[in-house]
Amino acid sequence: MELRLYDTLSRDKRTFVPLDAKNVRMYVCGPTVYDFAHIGNARPVIVFDVLFRLLRHLYGEAHVTYVRNITDVDDKINDRAARDFPGLPLNEAIRKVTEQTGKQFHADVDALGALRPSVEPRATEHIGEMREIIERLVKGGFAYAAEDHVLFSPQAMNAANSGLPRYGALSNRSLDEMIAGARVDVAPYKKDNTDFVLWKPSKPGEPSWPSPAGITAQGRPGWHIECSAMAWKHLGEYFDIHGGGIDLVFPHHENEVAQTCCAFHQERMANYWMHNGFLQVESEKMSKSLGNFVTIHELLADWPGEVLRLNMLKTHYRSPIDWTLKSLEESARTLDDWYRVAADAEPGQPAASVVEPLLDDLNTPLAIAALHGLRGSDVSALASSLRLLGFLSESAAQWEGRKQQASGVDAKEVERLISERTAARSRKDFKESDRIRDLLAAMGVAIKDSKEGTTWEFSR
Ligand code: AMP
Ligand code: ZN
Repeated sequence: MELRLYDTLSRDKRTFVPLDAKNVRMYVCGPTVYDFAHIGNARPVIVFDVLFRLLRHLYGEAHVTYVRNITDVDDKINDRAARDFPGLPLNEAIRKVTEQTGKQFHADVDALGALRPSVEPRATEHIGEMREIIERLVKGGFAYAAEDHVLFSPQAMNAANSGLPRYGALSNRSLDEMIAGARVDVAPYKKDNTDFVLWKPSKPGEPSWPSPAGITAQGRPGWHIECSAMAWKHLGEYFDIHGGGIDLVFPHHENEVAQTCCAFHQERMANYWMHNGFLQVESEKMSKSLGNFVTIHELLADWPGEVLRLNMLKTHYRSPIDWTLKSLEESARTLDDWYRVAADAEPGQPAASVVEPLLDDLNTPLAIAALHGLRGSDVSALASSLRLLGFLSESAAQWEGRKQQASGVDAKEVERLISERTAARSRKDFKESDRIRDLLAAMGVAIKDSKEGTTWEFSR
């Protein structure tokens, strides 16, 4: 069976043929580290982790290179640093913000069962490569310096028209429409209103580096150039797969393609462009103002990371996903059951019924349906298929123990309350016995009365 992937650029599903089967190369845009990552940010992390695992399964662990960057230079980082550490010099404050946020991001995505990428480059460690690409673009006539900025000209790119892609091809837009629709109050240093920033001057106190293109003032990179530089450094001028959320198609990925292809005279930057759909919460767009903004960190206080992972994978990665409490509860019940029956099973080979849907553009909902089928027929294949998808990182006992710990209830206390309730019942104080039952329910403990006495279990 071959792997087929949907490519945003060609707008169809194609058989995946690696450029080099000994080194399959994938780049995914990572987080800007200024705040806790939200559950929407977890989607590309989980989706491309499944693809990473599948590629390793197909080509061998040593033959896949996965690069996911960390954006550690950005206005949002500067603003957060100034707000949170007003007493510190800005550069020091920025380092604190990026270090703390980066650590938190790692803790979050580790808990989601995501493997660490092969390389996690930081933007600030690739300024040299950014300058090099910018110099090439200026030399090639695709970029120009003006008022200490360097701008990229999409119009120059499309005029060149020789072995280059068309600017706008990835996002399916025409440059003429962009020109017509662009804002009129364009920055004075831009020749055309569609030009975008490769490099800009730093304000006093802001992080700054020597500038390219003969500019004497110190400056800092624009956003898009970072990913062109880090992908080039770690994967080369042309590689297999480039991924990210659907919101990144324009302008971020369109501009990455433009920069890389014009700097290296390539027709393509990546062979497959993959984009995950957006996540919303309880049928509403997630936003701080609506109060439904939820971080991975907060969710992990209530749910094991693998529950969040399963809940994410129940929807196909290109569809929008509605993140609901109801669906989370169902995912938790499913995973409890799978842990009980499969976590300690002898692993075998992942089942074809699970792998085949994954090979069809990562059809995880169908793969999960197949897991339900294996539950009753082949527990060993269930276990290895779950592992392929990044589940069952714990033993059944660890899973149960952590659940009990997470509920903050100790068994002795539960037993004590149950015997109090039994006493209340025998003196026919039903008000008191109901109160105790409700108290236990609030603690996540379900009780069952029978002739033999009262038994209990954690209900979640
Ligand atoms: P950002 O830090 O905003 O650049 O986002 C990091 C990654 O998360 C990018 O790949 C985004 O496309 C993705 N992302 C952000 N918000 C959402 C969302 N609500 N649903 C799915 N993906 C998202
Ligand atoms: Zn990027």
